[in-house]
Amino acid sequence: MSLQNPIFIPGPTNIPDELRRAVDYPSIDHRSDIFAEMFQPIAAGVRRILKSQDAEVVLFPSTGTGAWEAVITNSLSPGDKVLAARYGMFSERWIALCRRHGIEVSVIETPWGEGAPAAAFEDVLAKDTDKRIRAVLVCHNETATGVKSDVAAVRRAIDAASHPAMLFVDGVSSIASMDFAMDEWRVDAAITGSQKGFMLPAGLAILALSAKAIEAMDGARCARCFFDVRDMLKSNSAGGFPYTPPVNLIRGLGAAIELLEKEGMENVFARHRRIATGVRKAVACWGLSLCARSPSLYSDTVSAVLVPSGFDGTKVVTHAAQKYGVAFGVGLGDVAGKVFRIGHLGAMTDVMMLSGLAAIEMVMADLGFSIELGSGVSAAQAYYRGHPDA
Ligand SMILES: *Cc1c(COP(=O)(O)O)cnc(C)c1O
Repeated sequence: MSLQNPIFIPGPTNIPDELRRAVDYPSIDHRSDIFAEMFQPIAAGVRRILKSQDAEVVLFPSTGTGAWEAVITNSLSPGDKVLAARYGMFSERWIALCRRHGIEVSVIETPWGEGAPAAAFEDVLAKDTDKRIRAVLVCHNETATGVKSDVAAVRRAIDAASHPAMLFVDGVSSIASMDFAMDEWRVDAAITGSQKGFMLPAGLAILALSAKAIEAMDGARCARCFFDVRDMLKSNSAGGFPYTPPVNLIRGLGAAIELLEKEGMENVFARHRRIATGVRKAVACWGLSLCARSPSLYSDTVSAVLVPSGFDGTKVVTHAAQKYGVAFGVGLGDVAGKVFRIGHLGAMTDVMMLSGLAAIEMVMADLGFSIELGSGVSAAQAYYRGHPDA
């Protein structure tokens, strides 16, 4: 692997120089004013990115998985029931995490390549007449399959069933790269990590909680200590943390919010859409298809490309790393070997993406795929030329 090359995995993502400089910072006394000043604007910045007026924003030293755990343990009790669908490795892992905490999960098996099944959710919720289901879990962008789900449709399904369940959304590979409307969708918990759309090293779990999720905290009996949101909020209101905060990452998050907002969030979303569209044009030119089954499901942050039968998606990724020193994502879980994934989120530009497409074409040609070198690259070039920067 060459450290000169950009990475094309869907997280961690490339770290812009500005953010590398922001996290390069000496140790400070985290009980000092310097920390309080650094920390103070973060919550409002995260709220702006999530389009939320008053969600409670909480940071834990952890990753996206820790954010899942924090949301579940702070709002639910063992024996509680939640509703989820399994349509990829990340929706599957969230279900497994709930079960380990003694939560009963009603799972709707959904083909990998499809998104959250709003109509099926509505059916189950409508039949739940004693309102046992406490929350509906949605993985907004299933990173394993490159599928974006329609969270607004899930919200409509919950409302149509007149069900009081909370709506928890994993936005780990969507937030800060694709539009996320926490208030409009009435999301009760939104989660992400620092190493995807925020373009930072891994190490921060980022949560936003609605008033309803906060209210659920006192009744929640799942064991929690490190991830107790109540302790965190109490310390935060005094300008600090209940334990040593990851100061460098928090400083980095402040810089990331600044960087994103300097570009403008709508421009950030448009850039992701444009780069992803170029990738999809390339994939079509190669005669390949995406794991995502229809255009409305196509993710703007990651594309999972199905390899022709007889080929191994994992070999594509290992060959790219070994011969060209460049990283793509392997297939996970049910689609292991069947896809390779191109991550195109975070600090990505047209030019970086073209280099990734050129590299993967070389890999596919080396491995005997029937593709013409340059075909996908030129399709993406044509698209990028015609759709210049927003
Ligand atoms: C990366 C990812 C996670 C897991 O996050 P970690 O930071 O690796 O713990 C969860 N959900 C989705 C959708 C992801 O893309």
